[in-house]
Amino acid sequence: MSPIWFFDLDNTLHDASHRVFPAINSNMNAFIADVLGEGGAPADAACVNAARIGYLRRYGATLLGMVRHHQVRPADFLEAAHRFDDLPAMLRAERGLDALLARLPGQKILLTNAPLRYSTDVLRHFGLQHYFTHHIAIESMRVHGRLQPKPSKALLRKLIARHGGNARRCVLVEDTLANLKAAKSLGMRTVWMTGYLRGSVSGQSGTAPAAGNAADVAKTRKRPPCVDVKVQSLKQLFDSLSRLMR
Ligand SMILES: [Mg+2]
Repeated sequence: MSPIWFFDLDNTLHDASHRVFPAINSNMNAFIADVLGEGGAPADAACVNAARIGYLRRYGATLLGMVRHHQVRPADFLEAAHRFDDLPAMLRAERGLDALLARLPGQKILLTNAPLRYSTDVLRHFGLQHYFTHHIAIESMRVHGRLQPKPSKALLRKLIARHGGNARRCVLVEDTLANLKAAKSLGMRTVWMTGYLRGSVSGQSGTAPAAGNAADVAKTRKRPPCVDVKVQSLKQLFDSLSRLMR
């Protein structure tokens, strides 16, 4: 039975830690500071950090807290966070990515907590868009009408059902452990991509803040129980294919 691959984008298919995440971080902080500010003055850094981390813990994504408590429109938050002067100049990925995806057997689906416009730009930049039968960006991660990005189990359940209902056939390839943990608990297979993890970077939509990411980095020496296969590059994924599919 051929696998159905769900590929994360940032820090899985390309090196977002290099320049994209630092830019998203500062964009997101500026946006949150404006929203939380009073009398025309932006909120201070301590206040911004408390909101980011608090909402992340409570809702799994800073974005969801900003929507729920500050009447922020998701589209406004995502647009502000993903505003770059020169995105192509900020992107880099492992060599031969194109050929690797071409050789990988099975259906491939992009599953990213990033917004569609940005993820489309990144895929196009690397010439990868035609490898994916579906492109699921954060805007379409809705369950019962509510925005439920990764690591939402409701979202993953919905995706498994939509693609045949057999979780064992579905493989999530990701850098974020919380997402792999959710996938594993539903019976999906999991590949942890550690090659681009660094200590102090953030994820899109505030789903993997500095603290969470640093904790993931600290675990890269081991293979946590929610991880079937740990790789440092997609190239390594090929060496692990038989182990993963057994
Ligand atoms: Mg990622």
